[in-house]
Amino acid sequence: MSGDKLLTMSLIRQWVCLIVVCFAARALAETAVPPNIILITVDTTRADRMGFLGSDLGLTPNLDALARQSVVFTHAYSQAPFTAPSHTTILTGTYPQFHQVEDFQVPLTKDLPFAPAILKAHGYHTAAFVGSIVLDPFQGLAIGYERGFDTYDSHFHMTRPGEDHYAATDRRAAVVVEHALAWLSKHPPGPFFMWVHLYDPHFPYEAPDPFGTRYKSAPYDGEIAYSDSALGKLLDRLRAQGLFENSVIAMMSDHGESLGDHGEEFHGFFLYDATIHVPLLLKLPGDRFAGKRIDSPVGLVDVLPTILHAVGIEVPQEVQGESLLAMMAPEPKPAANGSTATASPPDRPLYSETEYGVRAYGWSAVRSLRTGKYLFIEAPRRELYDMLADPKAEHDLSASSKAVADTLQSQLDAFRLKTKKNGEAPVPVADPEAQEKLAALGYTAASEDSAMTAAAAAAKGIGGGDPKDKIEIGNWMGEANYLLEVSRLDEAIVLLKKSIAKQPDLWIAYAKLGSAETYLHNFPEAVKARRKSVELMPDSVNLHYELGKILFESQDYESAVPELEFVVAKMPESWKTHIFLAISYSRTNRLLPAIAECQKVLAVMPEQYGTNLLLGRDLVLLGNPEPALPPLTKAASIRPRASEPHLVLADAYEKLGRNADAERERALGNRLAVNGPTPGPIEP
Ligand SMILES: [Zn+2]
Repeated sequence: MSGDKLLTMSLIRQWVCLIVVCFAARALAETAVPPNIILITVDTTRADRMGFLGSDLGLTPNLDALARQSVVFTHAYSQAPFTAPSHTTILTGTYPQFHQVEDFQVPLTKDLPFAPAILKAHGYHTAAFVGSIVLDPFQGLAIGYERGFDTYDSHFHMTRPGEDHYAATDRRAAVVVEHALAWLSKHPPGPFFMWVHLYDPHFPYEAPDPFGTRYKSAPYDGEIAYSDSALGKLLDRLRAQGLFENSVIAMMSDHGESLGDHGEEFHGFFLYDATIHVPLLLKLPGDRFAGKRIDSPVGLVDVLPTILHAVGIEVPQEVQGESLLAMMAPEPKPAANGSTATASPPDRPLYSETEYGVRAYGWSAVRSLRTGKYLFIEAPRRELYDMLADPKAEHDLSASSKAVADTLQSQLDAFRLKTKKNGEAPVPVADPEAQEKLAALGYTAASEDSAMTAAAAAAKGIGGGDPKDKIEIGNWMGEANYLLEVSRLDEAIVLLKKSIAKQPDLWIAYAKLGSAETYLHNFPEAVKARRKSVELMPDSVNLHYELGKILFESQDYESAVPELEFVVAKMPESWKTHIFLAISYSRTNRLLPAIAECQKVLAVMPEQYGTNLLLGRDLVLLGNPEPALPPLTKAASIRPRASEPHLVLADAYEKLGRNADAERERALGNRLAVNGPTPGPIEP
């Protein structure tokens, strides 16, 4: 056969192959215009609250209506009971052990497949509307999440004193939906990918009226009903604008909420169904397969490949989940040539894991495998449940069915080995200012110092305290976080001290105690608590920063210096710390290092009023009046109504023998001083 012919045959084979692969996708996406894609994630939402999954509470009329036009997955499982890793799994189609975004501040690396980036490359307009600062890439938290998005509607900020958290760190569902609708009304022509994230069911449960009043005795349910009503508005508008019909709509939650199940109040520590079994709906263009219910177990890791398959886009190789379309429209057996249009195996094990306990409290990681009728949980004390006979997972069989547990343990190990990423884990970004933002939320516990605990977490894996034995502390800390957020400081302090009494090396509790005492202006107590946290975690940049800051605020500049020096050595770009350090040097009469710090700050922030003033003042004190003139003049021009630059300028001119200039500046300074004090050196 000639070379040309061989090439032709090979091309034909490739085409045949491609046609087989794309057959199902094309069948589903055969319309001329590529379907729009709307991804809806409702945070912290339990599967058992959904009408379409059998709840008779009547909380979800809008989602139930959507379910009637969708495929319903009755056994969908989250891969992690925590917002950052679970959303990363949804958006990358990879397992937590692969994407490694186990916590806030761990960057999403550029080599990972990422839904918006893939879709943008295929001509989609992309927009995200998120409900919480924890998914805000511009605040040092969801680092890298902006990749591929034309619009990322977040821009949250720390709660200011007296400010409502709904105006700062999170948004009500109605506001998120309103922003999404505003974008929809003017989105450019062409297909779009829109991600809408609602945060409301996350603690605290305080739905607005009428839901707040109607569900007074079940406030969590009120949040679910409220979120459903907001989604109703979104879905109605899609229908009204004619965008519903040709859209793929995928709705799910990132994880559930324990509400006391197995002793856990919130989510993050455990892998039982309360937090891992999640709602999952998929509406396809033209309502194909509407009303179909799939009972086989599926994972959130399957969402991205399913969406891509549904719109006819090739699934990147790194994606680890499987397209679920095969389950809806069973296809012929895979071709012998290894075509990828495979059907899911009937008993596909579903893997989940959590490192929350390790990262937040130094306990053990927990991993699980759901396979057949079994739920196997790997922890220092492993567990095994027969979910058919014991759906609430109340009777641990790991001792009586040791052989089964052993087998599942080796399956789990093999699965992890096969799916984990080799090579270095992405380094979380130590960022004291982002920590302050997180401190406004209950999530702080997991991340007060993820930069430091990430390595420890990875190294530690299974071992140490079993979260089952520690859950009481986890609940107290979760509640203390909330009490801190709403400034119920005395109550928070009681819970923090209770936690410390139970686990004396709980550095995070000391760190939070330090925050609470600072808010109460109990500086000696705050310093004591902060010192203890540093003693327990001596490598933590964030803890040194907090200790340095509280020492600075209590005017113990001498003690603040070594803490701040530690921070700038590890994080030279923390300009706020350089300013604290410059002032601390200056106040302890170390003028040369103070001047050096000022110069570092002014090299990147030349308009910083306080630093110009401090530099000028220290140069005058050092007997160098000439070089003091430019920064002092600059300070005077930045704040023309401030008296201090003029008074220091007067001293400088006096030392230079320029008496007329000195007199003029002093007179001006004295005149301005009548108006009261000017801002301190920290203010810009
Ligand atoms: Zn979440």
